[in-house]
Amino acid sequence: MLGEAFKRLDLSPEIESAVLDLGFETPTEIQERVIPLLLEGADVIGQAQTGTGKTAAFGIPLVEGIDEEKRYPQALVLAPTRELAMQIAEQLRALTRYIPRIIVVTLYGGAGYGRQLDDLQEGAQVVVGTPGRVIDHIQRGTLKLDRIDYLVLDEADRMLDMGFLPDVERILRRTPRSRQTALFSATVSTVIRIISRRYMRNAKLVQVKAQHATVEEADQVYYEVADRDKVDGLLSLIQRDPPERAMLFRRTKIGVDKLVSSMRRHGLAAESIHGDMSQQIRERVMNQFREGKITYLVATDVAARGLDIPEVSHVFNFDIPEDMDSYVHRIGRTARAGRTGTAVTFVGEWDSDKLPALQKVAGQRLQRQVLPLYER
Ligand code: AMP
Repeated sequence: MLGEAFKRLDLSPEIESAVLDLGFETPTEIQERVIPLLLEGADVIGQAQTGTGKTAAFGIPLVEGIDEEKRYPQALVLAPTRELAMQIAEQLRALTRYIPRIIVVTLYGGAGYGRQLDDLQEGAQVVVGTPGRVIDHIQRGTLKLDRIDYLVLDEADRMLDMGFLPDVERILRRTPRSRQTALFSATVSTVIRIISRRYMRNAKLVQVKAQHATVEEADQVYYEVADRDKVDGLLSLIQRDPPERAMLFRRTKIGVDKLVSSMRRHGLAAESIHGDMSQQIRERVMNQFREGKITYLVATDVAARGLDIPEVSHVFNFDIPEDMDSYVHRIGRTARAGRTGTAVTFVGEWDSDKLPALQKVAGQRLQRQVLPLYER
């Protein structure tokens, strides 16, 4: 059931149904505060990190504003990385599932132009992209921004850190001055203030606490561990604090299968899910996990999308996540429905360069601990 707070936003029925399908019952803090402002047409700076629900905060007003009968780009979202662009596009597509005439095109580098050109030619109304590839399309004449009336800069601080400022400014100048602009950033630095003064009108600043809505109750700990000790390290943790139900994440399918075999050899009820399995088998495994017939589910990131099982007491990042968005997605699998949970990350010998980014996304909440295996 869609909660009162969402109903008060007075969304169109198609979008209400899509929000319901996504399983959102009540708006997160950033959504509650930002959506009404954006629906009124105001420019907004949202200070919020991944995990707060910021995508839907700008995404819901975005899709509300699209005229699906018109076959040209009306909204543009710029994001620093391909992964983030894909995630945003995925959520926008979910929000427009009952308005099939809306096309969301994702433009990022390292991928062919074929699909991107097809979507643009078909009249995509929503463009999500990384600055470099967006400029490519402008230069090729395949993307026109002269009728964009809604523009979002997502993770603006990261875009600046990555040196995208000149590109972002070039893109902004191609869009009409009359557009509405929303900027989201985990930090609001001087440079961000300058950009907002230059390119936004009376932007309203909305700050939410640096805290992840989806991971609020999870204890986040990490362990430094030699790669050859990972399995024993895991077993020593499980022995000390047996999970009610746990999800374990690995980067590759082969890794998933190997870990399941090792765990089974030690008598643990473990199963795998990954992209190579048919939907039918995946669902069967997930149901067994949901019912508690399996205690440990080992998965790749993709396979675990959207899994919502309140009994998951532990998430183990057996391999450190490739990017921090997937960290948030992974640990968002525990501490659901008001329960507490523990999110454990193994930092291997070669992973220490990823630790600062992880600490940044986790805030003060990521604690270093020592594996029972290494205690003496
Ligand atoms: P984001 O900060 O946009 O990356 O969102 C983080 C996660 O929260 C995503 O998995 C969303 O699907 C989820 N989410 C966003 N809004 C809500 C909501 N109102 N209720 C429950 N989950 C949400």
